[in-house]
Amino acid sequence: MTITILLDIQTYLFNGGRKIEVITTIDEMQKRADGWRQSGKTIVFVPTMGFLHEGHLALMRRGREYGDILVISIFVNPTQFGPQEDFETYPRDFERDRRLAESVGVDVIFAPQNDEMYGERFQTYVSLEELPQHLCGLSRPNHFRGVATIVSKLFNIVKPHVSIFGEKDYQQLVIIRQMVRDLNFDIRIVGAPTVREPDGLAMSSRNNYLSPEERRSASVLFQSLKLAQKSVAEGERDARKLINAASAHIKSVPHTQIDYVTICDPETLDDVDQIGGPVLMALAVKVGKTRLIDNTILKPKGN
Ligand code: AMP
Repeated sequence: MTITILLDIQTYLFNGGRKIEVITTIDEMQKRADGWRQSGKTIVFVPTMGFLHEGHLALMRRGREYGDILVISIFVNPTQFGPQEDFETYPRDFERDRRLAESVGVDVIFAPQNDEMYGERFQTYVSLEELPQHLCGLSRPNHFRGVATIVSKLFNIVKPHVSIFGEKDYQQLVIIRQMVRDLNFDIRIVGAPTVREPDGLAMSSRNNYLSPEERRSASVLFQSLKLAQKSVAEGERDARKLINAASAHIKSVPHTQIDYVTICDPETLDDVDQIGGPVLMALAVKVGKTRLIDNTILKPKGN
């Protein structure tokens, strides 16, 4: 931790102590992006919904390695929330986010208001046929349509050469990769590993909702993935048995309610029965009222 903070201070000093810039309009963001492109600069982009934590900051530090100008967006995107979901209560703290982003050398925060992004009579959406029919897409209809739409819009506004996404939202990452291929966005997508709390809980802005007791229960997501990894290392190849063991473990912990525990192909997200190569194990669990997700790649020996 201390080393990371020292590196961040160094980044800030290398940045010439330059102040981070906040842009709120599409027009200005596009003009700035055109200017950077004309002067031969490489633009790196990290989209976020804000309330930044170490997971986001790791993506930004990574982003610094890929180009000259680092842009992040902070926008809680209404179209990716369902009617009963937490759009209104999603945590927001722009000043804190601004300081954190500045400390890791972000050049620009693009932070538009809702009506800037979704004007009157907005009616064009990006939706994928197959990948959203799995995992989170089943219990969050239209979620990935909202994600693909906002990310497309942000790509057209920020005009990045490279964009970084977390493996924590694994389905989102494969959807963005597919969308970029299908719609020929000339953008390199980079996946970055999940950053975890000391007990293994994947960092998330939503962890903030957990009561102290729920927070203790929440480590069961990571524990059940570890349990499966161990069984696979010991030779288990039956996906159903692994899913049952993980589910039983989760159910034994208070405040938990399983949405799904799945083992699937890491590219198509189709279910897998027998583990013959690397597969994705993904889960979504409600802890109290908070829905948490996590995943890992299970690799049988020799793969
Ligand atoms: P969000 O603000 O939740 O939309 O997340 C913005 C980006 O940060 C997405 O690409 C997420 O996958 C990524 N992210 C969120 N949490 C983590 C984490 N714990 N580790 C790595 N990346 C993360």
